[in-house]
Amino acid sequence: MIKTLIMNKVILLDKRPVGKASLSDFKFIQEEIPQPKEGEILLKTVYVSVDPYLRGRMNDAKSYVPPFQLHEPIQSGIVASVIKTNNAAFKEGDVVSGSLKWQEYQVSSGSGLNKIDDDGTGLTAYLGILGMTGLTAYCGLSEIGVPKAGETLVVSGAAGAVGSVVGQIGKLLGCRVVGIAGTDEKVELLKSELHFDEAINYKTTPDLSKAIQDACPDGVDIYFDNVGGEVSDAVLAHINKFARIAVCGAISLYNGDAPSSGLPIPSVLLTKSALMQGFIVSNFADKFPAAIKQLKAWVKEGKLVSYETIENGFDHIPQAFLDLFDGKNKGKMIVDCKN
Ligand code: NDP
Repeated sequence: MIKTLIMNKVILLDKRPVGKASLSDFKFIQEEIPQPKEGEILLKTVYVSVDPYLRGRMNDAKSYVPPFQLHEPIQSGIVASVIKTNNAAFKEGDVVSGSLKWQEYQVSSGSGLNKIDDDGTGLTAYLGILGMTGLTAYCGLSEIGVPKAGETLVVSGAAGAVGSVVGQIGKLLGCRVVGIAGTDEKVELLKSELHFDEAINYKTTPDLSKAIQDACPDGVDIYFDNVGGEVSDAVLAHINKFARIAVCGAISLYNGDAPSSGLPIPSVLLTKSALMQGFIVSNFADKFPAAIKQLKAWVKEGKLVSYETIENGFDHIPQAFLDLFDGKNKGKMIVDCKN
């Protein structure tokens, strides 16, 4: 009898990208499926989250997370199912989420993994609205933005994973919400499905500063910044006295583009008595249980929409990651690896 050996596909960082990453920076290899030792479990990858911050980890630079090592697997948020277990804390069929490697199969001690249930929200939600994305939006907005009803909140990267949640929470808390995004389709989505008050296409608006002024007749009280660069300069020109600016991300700079010559930020902050604070979501780890409870309740009540772009197939993971930098996703970008 001929037995076919199922091999394990693994995606390695093959080269450190220079500027924009490309498919040639990744390498697929095949190896035997590892077997769990005593105390370990064997996991099969189900859904993979691709995220802009992974680009930073591809540089050989010190940051808040260590860089990926060359010729080693990339790692990101993953939902996986337990297919073999030598660990009493897990049974076959359990579904877990955690930071795992871009491999079809992998062994784990189980440490750092959370067991999850599809209790109506869908498993992908644990990589998005009920995972890092939702926590980033909720904690960054509530802890730094400190929104009050009636205030104006501007969100950049508004149709992306974090931005789409920030804007919806802003509306739930009674703010006037203005989103900035890169296509007319996204602008339409923000206004019609996610209930933003106004949305601006930063790529086609002839005068972004004027468009922001028109969309925010009372000025900007809170700016949730996902992109940095010229978009942020245009928003900062319209902040009100005592404005709060939550610096969540700067995707426009992740490929090494030069920062915009920009505004004299210290003068802007000084003259407006404004607060600008960068953050990493893990700063707010003590707030996570309450945040998840609130996010889950809003999702179940239908008040918060979990918007996702799902790509298909393990082989498509690197391309899905690259697509983030071309704005091809709406909401959270996830790769379905079931088939
Ligand atoms: P998104 O789902 O928002 O995907 C990225 C989006 O960024 C794209 O869809 C694109 O939308 C936009 N974009 C790409 N290139 C540019 C550019 N040059 N200028 C302006 N916009 C651009 O990603 P996430 O929601 O996962 O992340 C959003 C931001 O939040 C990122 O900067 C990320 O690093 C950061 N982040 C920070 C965390 C923290 O702890 N501080 C945690 C999680 C995320 P468009 O079509 O509108 O251009």
